[in-house]
Amino acid sequence: MDMSLTPEDEAFRQEVREFIADNLDSAPLQERLYSFYTEETIVKDWQSKLFKKGWIAPGWPVEYGGAGWTETQKHIFHEETALVDAPHLSAFGLSMVGPVIYTFGNDEQKAQHLPKILSGEMNWCQGYSEPGSGSDLASLKTAAVRDGEDYIVNGQKIWTSNAHFADWIFCLVRTNPDVKKQQGISFLLIDMKSPGIDVKPIVTIDNDHHLNEVFFSDVRVPAANRVGEENIGWTYAKFLLANERTGIAGVGSTKHWTNRLKVIAGMEPFGDGKKLGDDPAFQTKLADIKVKLSALEYTNLRTLAEVAAGRDPGPGSSMLKILGTEVAQAMQHLTMEAASYFGMPLIKHVPRSLSNIDQPIGPGYWSDAYSSMAIGRASSNYGGTNEVQRNVIAKAVLGL
Ligand SMILES: Cc1cc2nc3c(=O)[nH]c(=O)nc-3n(C[C@H](O)[C@H](O)[C@H](O)COP(=O)(O)OP(=O)(O)OC[C@H]3O[C@@H](n4cnc5c(N)ncnc54)[C@H](O)[C@@H]3O)c2cc1C
Repeated sequence: MDMSLTPEDEAFRQEVREFIADNLDSAPLQERLYSFYTEETIVKDWQSKLFKKGWIAPGWPVEYGGAGWTETQKHIFHEETALVDAPHLSAFGLSMVGPVIYTFGNDEQKAQHLPKILSGEMNWCQGYSEPGSGSDLASLKTAAVRDGEDYIVNGQKIWTSNAHFADWIFCLVRTNPDVKKQQGISFLLIDMKSPGIDVKPIVTIDNDHHLNEVFFSDVRVPAANRVGEENIGWTYAKFLLANERTGIAGVGSTKHWTNRLKVIAGMEPFGDGKKLGDDPAFQTKLADIKVKLSALEYTNLRTLAEVAAGRDPGPGSSMLKILGTEVAQAMQHLTMEAASYFGMPLIKHVPRSLSNIDQPIGPGYWSDAYSSMAIGRASSNYGGTNEVQRNVIAKAVLGL
């Protein structure tokens, strides 16, 4: 893959930088939060600016609202936005269900949902996992039984991120219990305001509410909300998971945090006047992360190029998910090591911005950083655990 930048690419990078300078600095309260779960108003503001510019969904085909960029341009955009801590846009609509709808949905579904996903008008959540059906997702039991023009849905989903903000949920449901488990699943789009849906919070180790249980009791869902064919939902589910796993790699964010880590290591002198960044043992650990990150970046680009060419990245997305989360977690560990006792307090919702980096390390900064890292611990779990991704690779690549 040729990654040398042409004069056009350099001009594009400049255009992105100018756009960021003109639009991100005016974000409310100047809070360019880094967390996976950024303040909603800030995300919406950034999303609406990207939407107006036509840059909201670089990976989508142009006919559905994509930006029409080359792979290099997409890479430049991700790099530049990560470098300034641009808010993370929710992946559920833009990276997960959106591509499923434009690839497998009908014209009515495309017209109803795609514009609202792009504009950020509708929030989505993901109804895949169930108690007892996480890694073995295809064993899911939430049932959808046909009743005239509708399905009647009964069952429970769990670990549903942001269900308490969501307008719609995309759900895997069992429409045939009498066949091989992968063959009796359908993919339904369900309005969260439907009678019979009950959302209950799950508070996680960071003492926050991101996750939920979602209960379905006789929920009536129009059959017109089924994406693609009945009982073929597993195919669409896997397509979505490949996109989800590719997105979890988070190369831009890890790169940015690694740069920040270098700044931190240069901040507080020890008693002898030397700083952590001068320590050869620390430098070795940092170099190890940077080498892996560089390899990850090129693997990421190769996988994205496969996706852009319309090819299924297959086990490539599993590999990327494992490497991306492991490198990010190694960087997070080292950051906590560098922060030492400043990383201890766990105070939630302390605003962070790029300006913090020039200030002495304070507990506010680090406690919030820590909460972001606590969710980082979960990244080797969600989207399919890393152990299960290794199984996928063993089967698909090694033929075991
Ligand atoms: C922060 C967070 C957000 C999430 N958000 C969502 C969401 O929005 N929507 C959603 O549907 N789900 C969500 N999930 C759920 C996530 O996808 C599941 O937790 C994950 O798939 C693992 O399933 P499980 O928790 O049931 O663990 P289990 O499947 O019970 O696994 C337990 C352990 O056993 C290991 N294991 C299981 N089977 C095998 C095997 N065959 N070989 C080797 N090891 C194995 C696993 O790796 C894991 O370590 C989220 C999870 C987290 C942590």
